[in-house]
Amino acid sequence: MLRVGIYGVGHLGKFHLNNWKEIPGVELVGFFDPHDDTAKEVSEKYQLVRFLDADSLMDACDAIDVVTPTNTHFDVCANAIKKGKHVFVEKPLAHTMQEARQLVQLTKESGVKLQVGHVERFNPAFLAVKDTQLKPMFIEVHRLAQFNPRGTEVSVILDLMIHDIDIILSIVKSDVKSISASGVAVMTETPDIANVRIEFHNGCVANLTSSRISMKKMRKMRLFQKDAYIGIDFLTKKTEIIKLKEPNDSNVFSFDIETGTGVKTIAVANPLVPEVNAIKEELLAFKNAIEQNTRTVVNERDGLAAMDVAHQILDKIGNNIIRD
Ligand code: NAD
Repeated sequence: MLRVGIYGVGHLGKFHLNNWKEIPGVELVGFFDPHDDTAKEVSEKYQLVRFLDADSLMDACDAIDVVTPTNTHFDVCANAIKKGKHVFVEKPLAHTMQEARQLVQLTKESGVKLQVGHVERFNPAFLAVKDTQLKPMFIEVHRLAQFNPRGTEVSVILDLMIHDIDIILSIVKSDVKSISASGVAVMTETPDIANVRIEFHNGCVANLTSSRISMKKMRKMRLFQKDAYIGIDFLTKKTEIIKLKEPNDSNVFSFDIETGTGVKTIAVANPLVPEVNAIKEELLAFKNAIEQNTRTVVNERDGLAAMDVAHQILDKIGNNIIRD
């Protein structure tokens, strides 16, 4: 049995709690949340023990799940790692780069497993194309959300765009060459909308737009590569691959195009999207990594790499602020 304690049972923490309950081989020891009303609701509704002291819960667990506001991640995680506890922490890994680097160092020294909740890696739409040869040369991303005060303790870059940064870094096997960015703070003190262009050393260019003040939701990534167009809709959980038809492509919709130098046949495929719950999958993957002593799917260095790009973006936006 893996003994797990949850820190923070607000909006997302409750989803985590429900998913942990469904994973065999897990004993949910209890939770810690300083907010009395939330804690009362959770202990009554889920019959889960509320610990009034953060340390006592850690001492009673093998692993903790940190679903607290981003600016508290460092303190909770550092304490747990020093106690030799495995840590699942919601994205982003931490608030500042210094905190993130320190967490990476502490994890290395203690040898515990750490996984960052970049849940889109487990999104069924992404899983459906993950094994396709992804070699994009151009990536276009839109992640738009309606305004919600939750999460606004950090900018839209660390709140939303970081999901796409992590996915892109997992696909593009090349270092970042340059970043240009523009962003505007509309409803909060930090950027609420941003557009970013990331150029990689291998020539790939990613163009990302994120907004948390949109009227409608959208989470789309489009990958363009020499032999294919791949569309991933993280929201509706649909995928589409359009490419030149190959002889072994059966059961795909296809049509001919006259190019001027001959006819090319285009194939349109919708890869099978697995019916999985992304949060449950990521928590299960964390448990498996602990039990099998393997790398976590999104480890502390992945979390740091995404934060590094996010902070470079924030620096660029800071430099680009138009002053009256
Ligand atoms: P929330 O405000 O609804 O909940 C946070 C809870 O943590 C609150 O109940 C609060 O009382 C509690 N808390 C505060 N400090 C604490 C501490 N030191 N120890 C224990 N509990 C503490 O926020 P949320 O929307 O659930 O977000 C929590 C985290 O999850 C954030 O880091 C956010 O970035 C992340 N998140 C990730 C996704 C995703 O798609 N992966 C989606 C939403 C939120």
